[in-house]
Amino acid sequence: MTKYVDIIPQLDKPQDECGVFGIYKNDDDINVVAITHDALYGLQHRGHVSAGITVNVDEVFTTVKELGMVSEVFTPKTLQRLPNGKIAVGHVRYTSNQSLDRAANQPLVLRYKEGSIAISSNGSITNFPSIRKELERGGAMFQSNSNAELMAYIIASERCKTGTLEDAVLNSMQILEGAYSTVICGPTRLIGFRDIFGFRPLCVGRVKNSYVISSESCVIDSIGGDFIRDVKPGEMVVIDEDGFHSYELAHKVPKTSLCLFEYVYVARPDSVIDGVSVHTARMRAGELLYKEYPIDADMVCGVPDSGVIAAEGYAKASGIPYGMGFMKNKFLGRNAGTGMDKKKRLLHTKLTALKSNVQGKRIVVIDDSIVRGETSKHIVKLLKGAGAAEVHMLISSPPFVFPCYFGIDIHDKENLIATKKTVEEIRREIGADSLGYLSIESLRKTAEYAGVGLCDGCFTKSFSAKIPTEFFVDKYANKINNK
Ligand code: SF4
Repeated sequence: MTKYVDIIPQLDKPQDECGVFGIYKNDDDINVVAITHDALYGLQHRGHVSAGITVNVDEVFTTVKELGMVSEVFTPKTLQRLPNGKIAVGHVRYTSNQSLDRAANQPLVLRYKEGSIAISSNGSITNFPSIRKELERGGAMFQSNSNAELMAYIIASERCKTGTLEDAVLNSMQILEGAYSTVICGPTRLIGFRDIFGFRPLCVGRVKNSYVISSESCVIDSIGGDFIRDVKPGEMVVIDEDGFHSYELAHKVPKTSLCLFEYVYVARPDSVIDGVSVHTARMRAGELLYKEYPIDADMVCGVPDSGVIAAEGYAKASGIPYGMGFMKNKFLGRNAGTGMDKKKRLLHTKLTALKSNVQGKRIVVIDDSIVRGETSKHIVKLLKGAGAAEVHMLISSPPFVFPCYFGIDIHDKENLIATKKTVEEIRREIGADSLGYLSIESLRKTAEYAGVGLCDGCFTKSFSAKIPTEFFVDKYANKINNK
């Protein structure tokens, strides 16, 4: 009989971040609302807590945003409230704290002396506490703990001191530290910019004669557009009636730091980030896992969804047949709009081991990461419960030994199992016959042709960017990642 076991994959996984999108229309037959709506569906994997779209029609901004998935927020009725305009920006949000704070939903629209701006951002401002304290000392009042609100505030303040919105953004990029890939809808232009380290992806594309800016390239494909290029670390792109313009900060860092974990888990496999296909990187991770752990087995399978491609890579390299080890119930899961709290929601997510496919076999099962070890334990239990003769667990990334400060919700150090236990102790805890992690050298190889430097700080404790010391002591510490 098929065995069902409740698992809570999202609770024991690094959480996704946010997705941003913007469009500047140059074609009469393009509907910016429809395209942004479609784009947000394509970015849903990056954030499922809230979704929103702001449209600029003759400098009048209209926004629909709410807690929930894209399909819940944008019904035929709510979409009707959004007129087709010249510029639109969209956002899907993930939050690392448990509060579902409506004030932090994006796009965030700010009206100030020079007009309005709508901002959608992905990342984490690491000097958030000090900037905010300073602004509060000067009388500023904030509605939320979101990075976007702080950024909007800084940009508006700079705009009041400088001649153009472009100058204001460039000045703000020198004030704001940490990770941010952001799109802004101004009165007459669409602006996208990426922090100087390039932690989070951001790219530009074209649909007919109209321009789009997106967190991931897969979205540009899905809306029928053409990818132009990635926004470079420290670059701002501006799209207005004269076309596409690029500005770069003069200040460069010795090593840029695109998040390696985007390739392992966060991004969609059909995206290409800074010149490297996410699918190819995951296949390569599987091939390199075989090089490091050549296990004698009957079948290779992946933990849905992000372990599957690495499992195919392992199967290809080893010649061991790839097979489905699990069925995932796609209709249970992330649903922020039902009132069900996150924990309960995730507890209702179910994986089923395919007994007919795993019974009596020596299984290599590949997952992308281990955070606390609970999910891995369930995975092994599922396979053994379905009659697998042996379960060898391989992980397509190295052990997490440090939290992330740059936008991925990797738990506090105390919750990372690899900081407290050896690999052998973890193996015993999860009940696998063997356990292996991809080495950091091999993980770097999966994205070695990226056009930027790579961050691997959560695996190595080595960061190119400054880690915020006040992170641990400031009163906003537990909220800093609330985008
Ligand atoms: S610390 Fe890890 S998760 Fe955070 S940006 Fe660096 S590689 Fe990505």
